[in-house]
Amino acid sequence: MPATPAWPPSSLPRLYVDQPLAQDLALTLDGAPANYLGAVLRLQPGDAVKLFDNCTGEWLAAIEEAGRKRLLLRITRQLRGLEPVPDLWLLFAPIKKGRIDWIVEKATELGVARLVPVITRRTIVDRLNQDRLFAHMVEAAEQCERTALPLLDDARKLDAVLKDWPDDRTLYFADEMGGEPFAATARPGPAAILIGPEGGFTDEERETIRAIAAASAVSLGPRILRADTAAVAAISIWMGAAGDWSMSPRS
Ligand code: SAH
Repeated sequence: MPATPAWPPSSLPRLYVDQPLAQDLALTLDGAPANYLGAVLRLQPGDAVKLFDNCTGEWLAAIEEAGRKRLLLRITRQLRGLEPVPDLWLLFAPIKKGRIDWIVEKATELGVARLVPVITRRTIVDRLNQDRLFAHMVEAAEQCERTALPLLDDARKLDAVLKDWPDDRTLYFADEMGGEPFAATARPGPAAILIGPEGGFTDEERETIRAIAAASAVSLGPRILRADTAAVAAISIWMGAAGDWSMSPRS
């Protein structure tokens, strides 16, 4: 029997929209999303796109009117509900532009629920372009089919973040000076991974972190990784051992 082609095909353009979606809703897109769908992809009335809104899941929509600057769409049907995201936060010290964008992109793809930039003693970047990071996060979520965006916090001092650390959230502290092998330590349950800047942590910071009841110092192997590599490696280890990578793929 010939296979019935799947509809909608997974190759449809997929966009995040900053408004709640619902069955039969008409919506107008302008700005960058309209430019992308209308001028770059040259979509026409009748063409389909997938939309998600970070609160109701993913929807199929049809283009009703296509201009170069403005598109009118109508929601056809819901494709998926809002996904449950594994309860993992990434605490990371801001590093230079291209590399921090990469961390945000990869953490989003890998399934992190919350991104928390933390300013440590040896952090050399003190101003973060939140809009640029948000745009990278959205682009990664569109591409990897997330229906829920990670939360993106404003940068805060490490001390402030640690001060009221909740006892029930394990803080896996990636310590280049040594700790338990992470793959053998990662457990299910609310978790956060803390990655330092290129210059590493000071001894004082190391002591403060280790004094937290929920902290667990972990090692990512015998080599010193760059901060961006360490972030991606640590998230991957946690996702495989305690996150949702061991579940069967959605049908
Ligand atoms: N300049 C420091 C290295 C910092 S690497 C030094 O030479 O010692 C940046 C961050 O990545 C570290 O703070 C740590 O959080 C993480 N990291 C890198 N390699 C690691 C490893 N092998 N185990 C655990 N964490 C590591």
